[in-house]
Amino acid sequence: MNQLLDINIAAPAAPEASLLLIYTGGTIGMAYNRRGEMVPMEFSSMLRLMPELHQFNVRLTVHSLAHPIDSSNIAPSDWLTLVGLIEQSYEAYDGFVILHGTDTMAYSASAMSFLLENLTKPVIFTGAQLPVGKVRTDARKNLLTALEFAAARDPHTGRARVPEVCIFFHNVLLRGNRAKKVESGHFNAFKSENYPPLARAGIDLEYNEGAIRTIVPPGPTLFHRQFDDRVSILKMFPGINERVVRASLEVPDLRGCVLETYGSGNAPTAPWFTQALRDAIDRGLHIMNVSQCDEGRVQQGRYETSAHLRDLGVIGGDDITTEAAITKMMYVLGHPLTPAETAAGLTRDLRGEISLG
Ligand code: ASP
Repeated sequence: MNQLLDINIAAPAAPEASLLLIYTGGTIGMAYNRRGEMVPMEFSSMLRLMPELHQFNVRLTVHSLAHPIDSSNIAPSDWLTLVGLIEQSYEAYDGFVILHGTDTMAYSASAMSFLLENLTKPVIFTGAQLPVGKVRTDARKNLLTALEFAAARDPHTGRARVPEVCIFFHNVLLRGNRAKKVESGHFNAFKSENYPPLARAGIDLEYNEGAIRTIVPPGPTLFHRQFDDRVSILKMFPGINERVVRASLEVPDLRGCVLETYGSGNAPTAPWFTQALRDAIDRGLHIMNVSQCDEGRVQQGRYETSAHLRDLGVIGGDDITTEAAITKMMYVLGHPLTPAETAAGLTRDLRGEISLG
């Protein structure tokens, strides 16, 4: 997924903004194969189905990845490709829109939020629940509105209205590292239970100014490339046994694990469980406690069933999503830090992904 095709599709006389549209695949650009399965098609076919794009008063350049993919196949190497693409064109464009499958969009948006530091321009992910060729498709509205958000600037300061990695879907603009895919059967596929939408698209685009990160970045935009994929997710369920827990924590070379716990961060207090975590932490594994609940926060010590995790040195994930937690781990572990610095990096709010309790 690293060959690129450059198609310049619109260049009006006085464009309001310059946007780069990156097509990675996903349902938005899919068609049916002979077996009746949906597979990604080339962007040029998709373009023919979206003549509206030419009406936008923006300079729009499209990069299509040579082999568009179903986002179930996305990998950290693809995120690095996206970082490279944005870095090389950062100065030339006012905003970026990434067309991506919905299945892993929240992971990719979270990953990109960590890899792009001190962002001053919008990077907006969008996609669709129905392919662009379907009569009732949501592709047009999602893409056209995402482009509008990516082009929007504050009339007073000239700065981007939303200088963040976001997901636009259905009618809400969400912070990317707060979003989760919650629907596969309806159009409102994404929610952000622990953080308000950054904007809504009705007749007008309504911005929630208080929720948008408008702080002036303390330094230049940084395009990180360090990611460590030696991480895992271990989800609690009643009946989980010692062999499963140990097999998950004792993977050779494993450096980080997101522990998906119950409620406000609770897990079994059985001695074998506590011992398995203690052994892993003693070996240097970083464990982050993230709740299986979509809304609410981890509060280690609220119950006896989470106090033991705190005492062991498990990092409380507050109100972070699993998608943000696992990508944050890959990002922080990708840096050459001491164990204490790594733990501090995992605890801190890096890109608005957590509200510390
Ligand atoms: N399987 C598709 C994908 O994530 C689903 C979608 O795009 O909605 O690529």
